[in-house]
Amino acid sequence: MKIAVIGCTHAGTFAVKTILSEHPDAQVTVYEKNDNISFLSCGIALYLGQQVKDPQGLFYSNPEELKTLGANVKMNHEVTDVDPEAKTITVTNLTEGKQFTDTYDKLVATTGSWPIMPPIQGIDNKNVYLCKNWNHAQELFKTAPAKKRITVVGAGYIGAELAEAYSTTGHDVTLIDGADRVMSKYFDRQFTDVVEQDYKDHGVTLALGQQVTGISGDDTVTITTTKGSYETDLVIMCVGFKPNTSLFKGKLEMLKNGALITNAYMQTSDPDIYAAGDSVAVHYNPTNSPAYIPLATNAVRQGILVGKNIEQPTVKYMGTQSSSGLKLYDRTIVSTGLTMAAANQQGINAAVVTITDNYRPEFMPTTEPVLMSLVYNPENRQILGGTLMSTYDVSQSANTLSVCIQNQNTIDDLAMVDMLFQPQFDRPFNYLNILGQAAQQQLAQQADSVKA
Ligand SMILES: Cc1cc2nc3c(=O)[nH]c(=O)nc-3n(C[C@H](O)[C@H](O)[C@H](O)COP(=O)(O)OP(=O)(O)OC[C@H]3O[C@@H](n4cnc5c(N)ncnc54)[C@H](O)[C@@H]3O)c2cc1C
Repeated sequence: MKIAVIGCTHAGTFAVKTILSEHPDAQVTVYEKNDNISFLSCGIALYLGQQVKDPQGLFYSNPEELKTLGANVKMNHEVTDVDPEAKTITVTNLTEGKQFTDTYDKLVATTGSWPIMPPIQGIDNKNVYLCKNWNHAQELFKTAPAKKRITVVGAGYIGAELAEAYSTTGHDVTLIDGADRVMSKYFDRQFTDVVEQDYKDHGVTLALGQQVTGISGDDTVTITTTKGSYETDLVIMCVGFKPNTSLFKGKLEMLKNGALITNAYMQTSDPDIYAAGDSVAVHYNPTNSPAYIPLATNAVRQGILVGKNIEQPTVKYMGTQSSSGLKLYDRTIVSTGLTMAAANQQGINAAVVTITDNYRPEFMPTTEPVLMSLVYNPENRQILGGTLMSTYDVSQSANTLSVCIQNQNTIDDLAMVDMLFQPQFDRPFNYLNILGQAAQQQLAQQADSVKA
């Protein structure tokens, strides 16, 4: 079986390794247009914030490893066309400028995503940078010592992390977003209010509820928005990602934004073309529908599934809750599934309960408050989403809630499910149990008030 893999960062690397370990007779050729594989972009802000000392640690594989495992690895090779009928691909060797054709029995489309560049006047200004791959990372690392004023456009996860990193290393940071609060797609307002206060306390200028309309200037750059203008030395565009799937336009089924649609075995509408990672739509369990959620968590799981299913459908994709988390300053903020704002936007019948509780008893030498919310369906009581925030590390609690959503657990399950108790860690009821109980009480009070 001759397999061609297009693109090799996370989905591609995991697909190749799994194919080679589970189908040792497969002939695998990897085409990657860059000169590196497996770069963890999540480390860019950590390096800029001086938490990660050696950026080489941000790679977990390399072309030589894949060669040793048996792959034919073609770095600096871009696939420029795909003919699914003839089962051929056209490839350009970027080093030599030569073009050639290759054939395949199965094709793996792990072409990922690319940052969205909105049609803003001056977007091609030399001081506008992107933050996606190793090339971008190197440029940002190089400029960090010299550029004092940094403007981040887009206050999603990546923009939020960059703004924090630059603000802790002596830079003057402005964070611009069209929405009226930071990370509005990921967290409800009670949480983003706290994050915004943290930014202000660290000197970050928040320019929210305004769109960038123009970028101009040479050394000093002026960013014009719908509400004002800001002077800066460097601009980083972080307004989201689009799937890198133009190769397949008109050839494979896609969502409107170009995300490839796959079945549970990661086969596209052409059963001999598999796809995984940022190039595909995921199955979003809280709404039981396809969605575009580009995360490494999805890429590595789907990459493995491509490997397992490449010969025949074997293992199904479980879907995702889009669980994610970040640490800003000394606060951990994690979420899984739907926020209340997202449920409202999508017309989903949902309720939310929000509470604060200390993670462990007050008789201990220290304890920390945890702000947490649970989004649930008030009719069938099923859990749809959850968010936690604390200076205590609550990250694994989002993972617990993710399992609850995956398994279609209710608020009653969460209220009483067995969780360990030891005063070092929590109370006789863990704070997640207490969150489930708060949702139960909320529904009971509403039922009482309806009766009265
Ligand atoms: C700054 C940043 C921080 C992030 N932090 C997190 C995090 O903390 N947690 C998390 O889960 N996710 C995070 N993500 C998201 C995560 O990085 C992506 O979901 C992940 O990279 C997707 O992997 P992928 O292999 O599907 O696609 P990509 O990483 O986009 O890789 C696609 C590869 O395909 C190659 N390619 C594309 N087209 C062609 C072609 N025609 N020919 C040859 N090669 C081609 C590209 O060069 C690239 O190497 C972060 C992303 C960024 C940018």
